[in-house]
Amino acid sequence: MKTEYVDLRDGKDVKEGLYKATEIIKTGGLVAFPTETVYGLGANGLDENAVPKIYEAKGRPSDNPLILHISDFDEIKSLVKEIPDVAFVLADEFWPGPLTMVFKKSDIVPYRTTGGLESVAVRMPSNRIARELIKAAGVPVAAPSANSSGRPSPTKASHVLEDLDGKIDMVIDGGTVDIGLESTIVDVTGEVPVILRPGFITEEMLSEAIGRVKTDEAVKNLSPDKDLKPKAPGMKYRHYAPQGKMTIYKGNPEKVVKIINEETAKSEGKKTAVLATDETKRYYKADIVISVGSREDCESIAHNLFDALRSFDDMGAEIIFSEGFDESRLGFAIMNRLHKSAGYNIVNV
Ligand code: AMP
Ligand code: MG
Repeated sequence: MKTEYVDLRDGKDVKEGLYKATEIIKTGGLVAFPTETVYGLGANGLDENAVPKIYEAKGRPSDNPLILHISDFDEIKSLVKEIPDVAFVLADEFWPGPLTMVFKKSDIVPYRTTGGLESVAVRMPSNRIARELIKAAGVPVAAPSANSSGRPSPTKASHVLEDLDGKIDMVIDGGTVDIGLESTIVDVTGEVPVILRPGFITEEMLSEAIGRVKTDEAVKNLSPDKDLKPKAPGMKYRHYAPQGKMTIYKGNPEKVVKIINEETAKSEGKKTAVLATDETKRYYKADIVISVGSREDCESIAHNLFDALRSFDDMGAEIIFSEGFDESRLGFAIMNRLHKSAGYNIVNV
């Protein structure tokens, strides 16, 4: 199949530019589109024949459910059995935006979309192209990240094409996304809301809005524990992994630089790379050094992380050393992704 590329980066004529994309979604095809978190791979989430195409294009395990994207709060009513009070408060506070909520699903949502679960995940994105597309399609759009399963999520249209060119009908280029990490997922079906995946909306922000909120124990640990199974099925898979062997070095930045340089020296003959920060990048001796921004600026680190991981692959990095980051607030989501990329290979310095 030929993947059509549509450039909407200048922000003009968005509605007109989406005409064909809308037709593709309505007729059961696949369109990758920008959201404020990462690029999504969209299909009609209520169409049992369209949804499997997402799994096939991504190589995604069939038990890993999809998030349904809506453009207006009223659209949620037909998708869920009930809307708990906290969900109204969270929607009021954070929608449209990078927050996904898990509800009990209604009968019209196919099990193919929910990976066989009785629950359904719903989000209202804020990105203008995403909203216009969903609204024009007139259906909830199932959209996981538009990468091949296991690779870092796409933050640019070129990342989508790297993975899915020839496997999907269309990609809409809306430029680089704002946030760069996937949405925060909160399960609101129980008595106390539970964070199943950390993201830009932090536990502190949620708790300020609704009071009590917990984080899934399996996610809180930041390291795998065979007795704890994550409640979001997708969180159990190895993910975001570059091809090279990656290790995270946590601790005092000066010591981290020293040890990474010692390890680089020991890795002669292999192509080495460092995921660094503005404060440290000039001190490293590896073949490839990429800064994800200042240590003081978590938003910049989140924004640049997946692009850096993909660049290591593009440049053929065989051994990758990464600095560790502060694990509070947004840093918790960053370290969650980084730990997965490194397959939980961590050295405390
Ligand atoms: P992605 O769209 O690639 O960010 O993946 C969607 C994430 O949402 C995966 O980690 C899924 O496991 C999670 N998810 C989707 N639906 C549900 C659900 N009903 N219950 C729990 N987690 C869900
Ligand atoms: Mg994903």
